[in-house]
Amino acid sequence: EKLWSILSNKVKESNKITEEKVLEDWIAGIIRVLLQSDVDFKIVREIERKIKTLIKSDDLESGRNKFIILHQAIFSEICKILDVGRPSFIPKKRKPSVVMFVGLQGCGKTTTCTKYAYYHARKGWKPALVCADTFRAGAFDQLKHDALKARIPFYGSYTESDPVKLAVQGVANFKKKNVNLIIVDTRVCHKQDASLLEELHQVSEAIQPDLVIFVMDSRIGQAASNQAQAFKRSVEVGAVIVTKMEGHAKGGGALSIVKATKSPVIFIGFGEQMDALKEFDLKSFVSRLLGMFDWYGFMHRQPELLEKVSEGESTFRIMYEHLQNALKIGPGGQIPGFSKDHSKESETKLKHYKAFMDSMTNGELDGEFLSLARMNRIAMGCGCQLSEVIEMVEGYYQFCKEMMSMFGDAARH
Ligand code: GDP
Ligand code: MG
Repeated sequence: EKLWSILSNKVKESNKITEEKVLEDWIAGIIRVLLQSDVDFKIVREIERKIKTLIKSDDLESGRNKFIILHQAIFSEICKILDVGRPSFIPKKRKPSVVMFVGLQGCGKTTTCTKYAYYHARKGWKPALVCADTFRAGAFDQLKHDALKARIPFYGSYTESDPVKLAVQGVANFKKKNVNLIIVDTRVCHKQDASLLEELHQVSEAIQPDLVIFVMDSRIGQAASNQAQAFKRSVEVGAVIVTKMEGHAKGGGALSIVKATKSPVIFIGFGEQMDALKEFDLKSFVSRLLGMFDWYGFMHRQPELLEKVSEGESTFRIMYEHLQNALKIGPGGQIPGFSKDHSKESETKLKHYKAFMDSMTNGELDGEFLSLARMNRIAMGCGCQLSEVIEMVEGYYQFCKEMMSMFGDAARH
């Protein structure tokens, strides 16, 4: 009898919680994605806890919206972690600033120093590079080679073995000259060696940098947290650059570094070339982390489209054009990315989508992020359901993907 009651309860439960089960599976999926993206499991656990609390609350509407709302909730949780609420130090042109680069051997410090110098040179700064890495054979040659290529003045030595002296001399040398951004490259071997971290501390004390940038290899994985803690004890990190972000790396370790150092990510390195450095974009970074459509990356891969956008014609606007054409054709009119459904109903839907886009702001049409609150307002303004607006935005991502593959094909031919 006891067994029977347990079994029947289980059956009752399993009927009742099918939706719960689906949600659980979905959460498990998201967790897997986050862990695969190298987000620290403590952070993943925290996110999981918050999401489970949200599920239990009555705020969720029923139906498929739930997933989108949860997705948005996860999205904004991660944004919150990465957004430290204060901008990083921005070098001024009027007064010379000293920026010191730190990070483990091989993370891309030296390369990123030149990229950072090149980036600022193009924006009108007068940068210079100081090599304070006296440890690695060829460290100075590497910096010199890059600096010459980028036409950036540099300072270093083949004979001086004291990195503190070298850094101090380099900085003093450029302070006398017409330079307003002095970039100091340092060393730390691949292990978080205590004596080398102490040396880093001494360099920092000696040159008193305005900003210390922590360079993080995006492939570092779960070790990011320990690394950040170790560096934090020896230097006052003020900003983070994540390197090697081309390809499949998601850079989830950045969450740990940002959390530990309370410093924002400012740039992303995406290749070995000098100009493979772009300003950090929070939403595109998080989208990529969650395996969502990477709008920013898409724009960079599609120079043709980018040109259109700079002429004030965003993809949303291109989609709008397609939509108007589809409506002109009547039932059967198609836009890429939306289901091929020739019914009258789908025409009504397209009309709704047009109404949504009509009530979007110019900024939003130009690719600004649509928050859930904004989507809700748009829906209410048009007398429609929120789910329909979300559907349109999803369709829009799909549209972008199709456009991308079309452009990709065109480029290949
Ligand atoms: P350091 O030891 O920290 O100074 O690292 P380096 O600047 O010497 O870089 C180590 C290796 O990583 C070099 O082969 C660089 O070309 C490469 N590297 C640096 N940044 C990037 C990047 O964003 N993408 C890729 N693919 N390679 C990079
Ligand atoms: Mg180096």
